[in-house]
Amino acid sequence: MQRVRLAHTEVLLAQLRSVGPLSRAELIRLTGLSRTTLFDIIGDLIARGVVVEREPSLSGHRGRGRPSTTVSLNPSAGRIVGIDLGRATITVIVATLGHDILARGSRPITLTAGPARRANAAIKLIDDLVQEHDIDLRALEAIGLGLPGLVFGRSRSAGGSGSPSVAAKQVSTRIQDRYGVAVVTDNNSRLAALAEGTWGATRDVRDAIYVRWSDGVGGGLIVDGRLARGAHGAAGEIGHVSVEPDGDPCPCGGRGCLELLIRPSALIEQCARRGVTVADPADLVARALAGEPIVSDVVRHAATLLGRVLSGMVVQLDPGKVAIGGTLAHAGEAVLEPVRTAIGQLAIPGHTRRLDVVTAQFGDEGGALGAVAAALRLNMSEPLPTLPTA
Ligand SMILES: [Zn+2]
Repeated sequence: MQRVRLAHTEVLLAQLRSVGPLSRAELIRLTGLSRTTLFDIIGDLIARGVVVEREPSLSGHRGRGRPSTTVSLNPSAGRIVGIDLGRATITVIVATLGHDILARGSRPITLTAGPARRANAAIKLIDDLVQEHDIDLRALEAIGLGLPGLVFGRSRSAGGSGSPSVAAKQVSTRIQDRYGVAVVTDNNSRLAALAEGTWGATRDVRDAIYVRWSDGVGGGLIVDGRLARGAHGAAGEIGHVSVEPDGDPCPCGGRGCLELLIRPSALIEQCARRGVTVADPADLVARALAGEPIVSDVVRHAATLLGRVLSGMVVQLDPGKVAIGGTLAHAGEAVLEPVRTAIGQLAIPGHTRRLDVVTAQFGDEGGALGAVAAALRLNMSEPLPTLPTA
């Protein structure tokens, strides 16, 4: 009896950890527990200070009728840190178990810094944020860590999801030693996909493709509510689909990868070859938005290439949504429309008629937010929460 009760309590806490504040009615639907059991367990958790009741807020009021009180994990009970340790920028978010963000910050980092220096830079940013915002990290529960590139090495077994690569291991061990809590590590684009699937643009569908279109072109797949890692930890590496088999060699070992052809620096070069000088990626986006003919043409061509690669994935996965993030996503319809058109021309019409191609919700913070989501979930193979649709 006691064991059943504990299991029920754990199911309920898992929902609050991964979804955030929920009403009792929503919890009944999500956990499948009976009304009596659920009210009983929540009463107990409130008495023990593990969860707290929140008055309904106006913004949280969905639909007609009286908004209901929600329950959430006691924010003072635990802390989560999410880190996106990108190639050029570190972003850190400190959040509570109740999904409130306490502090956020980002800082540039030298491209050539090795694992130890990168880890130390992340630790310094966390410590500075903690001091600045007067946060008590004694209640730190877990850390999520996003890294660029192939975070996982070879798979240990055919069905395994890979072990961390040497550099990833060095960074995560240093951070783990400093804070003494579990560090969940994954590719930062894939974590951005997790953030979109948990709280962002694709939260309302069970199957989604996320693309981060920046200097690295990466992404992640949500398949039946789970973040797909793949047998070798490389699932979602859309930037390394070869689109020119005889093209330039890519650091991944392939040739003519999509990333080499559509990353902002390549597009700036293409503009230069056509006599147009573009200062940087932000300038590229601004001029595409302004409709400058040559810049628009270059961006449209790149988005069409991306759409063609996506069309193959759309046929296979039949996603409810494709979300585009990263620097180029700021160009909005100037990239979404050609992507949509290319998918429409190449994928099965029945699939694409109901497919939404949208801008990702989280900008540069997506990776760090996803790291928070991963740490909240701890076990990455757990399904994404099904969100209430009321
Ligand atoms: Zn490649």
